[in-house]
Amino acid sequence: MLLLCIESSCDETSAAVVRDGRQILSNVIASQVDVHARYGGVVPELASRKHVEAISVVIGEALERAGVDLNAIQGVAVTRGPGLVGALLVGLSTAKAIAFARDLPLVGLHHIEGHILAALMEQEIAFPYLALAVSGGHTHIYRVDGIGRYQGLGRTLDDASGEAFDKVAKLVGLGYPGGVLIDRLAAQGNPDAIDFPRPLLHQDNFDFSFSGIKTAVLNYVRRQPGPIEGEHLKDLAASFQKAVVEVLCRKTWRAARETGLERVVVAGGVACNSGLRRMMSEMAAENRGQVFFPSPGLCGDNAAMLGVAGEHYLAAGYRAPLDLNAVASWSLDRAGIR
Ligand code: ATP
Ligand code: MG
Ligand code: FE
Repeated sequence: MLLLCIESSCDETSAAVVRDGRQILSNVIASQVDVHARYGGVVPELASRKHVEAISVVIGEALERAGVDLNAIQGVAVTRGPGLVGALLVGLSTAKAIAFARDLPLVGLHHIEGHILAALMEQEIAFPYLALAVSGGHTHIYRVDGIGRYQGLGRTLDDASGEAFDKVAKLVGLGYPGGVLIDRLAAQGNPDAIDFPRPLLHQDNFDFSFSGIKTAVLNYVRRQPGPIEGEHLKDLAASFQKAVVEVLCRKTWRAARETGLERVVVAGGVACNSGLRRMMSEMAAENRGQVFFPSPGLCGDNAAMLGVAGEHYLAAGYRAPLDLNAVASWSLDRAGIR
């Protein structure tokens, strides 16, 4: 099928044209980063307004880049949740309008389902696998037995890993969004310079906690006589990143060993992190397993990633009703009830 996919759960307005759930004909992403940067985080009301301004243009461009017009589209897949409700509603309402006007089948998808299936668009990965979803709002480990068959094994008890990157970046004055800025500095610093905590590392579960690392960074910053700059800032970035990456990697591979799964898929914006990619690959080798990452363009928010599940459900005959509503919070384990 030729699907139009639409994503607007946070601060990216995105539309994509995907063939047969795998072939990406276009994937247009309009980021609102500039709008929110001055506030140091996403302002929900501004996000909704910017989505309204961008959505038609982004969809038009996705069709144009794919070289198809709306008449060729055979179905619509849209993010239904979780996310900012006002932001979600822009994409969802647009998707419903197109589906209604063109008499096309519609499916509303879980945003994290999109993230953890994105890698399948680029590589053959056999089920079952373990998915580590690391993003601005999630740090979850799922067992993935197939499309629509997800079991949560562990999750963050407080901040998400991406949120920790962003908050630490903000408190050392790096700006928003901070993950990529910390990553860049970390590459030049000494990861063993400062000993930040590794929360829950030795606990016999697959849960995470990142607010303690963030607080440790805050306390460290407060103990310094002046602002942290230059080499000192690079060392702080590298040490913080190592603390986060180490917990993510060790707990994920422990989960892999205990569940007997050999394949790990890392997904979401934080999957771009170079330290995480490196240590995950090292640990995959140690554990005689395999790790997969989507290419950077498919890690962060984008509409194309919805193509995998969209194709699966629509091809199976699933049709969302036109009174489908957006949902701010939604457990992926229960996403089967769509
Ligand atoms: P969710 O997917 O949970 O709803 P989200 O959609 O806002 O949240 P994503 O867009 O998937 O999250 O990812 C954005 C997050 O990824 C931000 O927190 C950002 O700082 C982080 N991030 C992006 N690149 C990197 C990087 N290189 N290193 C660390 N973090 C990064
Ligand atoms: Mg974003
Ligand atoms: Fe996301």
